[in-house]
Amino acid sequence: MKKALYPGTFDPITKGHLEIVRNAVRIFDEVIIAVAEASEKKPLFSIDERVQLCKESLTSFPKVRVAKFTGLAVDFAEDIHTYTMIRGLRAVSDFEYELSLALMNKNLNPKIDTIFLLPDSDYLYLSSSMVKQVIQLGGSLSKFVSPNVEQAVLRKYKTLGEYHEPKKD
Ligand code: ADP
Repeated sequence: MKKALYPGTFDPITKGHLEIVRNAVRIFDEVIIAVAEASEKKPLFSIDERVQLCKESLTSFPKVRVAKFTGLAVDFAEDIHTYTMIRGLRAVSDFEYELSLALMNKNLNPKIDTIFLLPDSDYLYLSSSMVKQVIQLGGSLSKFVSPNVEQAVLRKYKTLGEYHEPKKD
């Protein structure tokens, strides 16, 4: 059984992430989405909210399960005996960071290999932070996130009192 771990912050999960998962399930029998606590990145959503949004967005993928972890992804990989990691590569700007992360992970645990997958070109410049910014400023993003995620981002900014109502003229 070929298993792979797809670790990330997923704050929140976008259609770019989903595209990587769609490609990964063609290669692996089981894909584990591992949501990192990543408190140092000050995520908008709590880890449990991010896990829930991933689960809701992934109901049509039977070979995928969602887990959460704190600390190093390599330690979590060791805990669940899964030594292939998946990461997504967008534009060239991702490359340097992703390469150093993959090399560091291999240093920390030589059993770990990282496989890079590409999204569809529609999602090449899509990031969770861009999604949050656009929704916060009143834009609609149904092309880039699932409806549940769009609603959740909107609700979150409204609850925080940080939603900027779009101007009507
Ligand atoms: P992290 O904070 O670990 O980078 P992210 O949730 O931002 O977590 O991303 C997890 C992985 O998914 C990273 O490898 C990132 O490059 C990839 N990824 C994010 N958005 C996209 C996208 N639109 N297309 C392809 N890969 C993506």
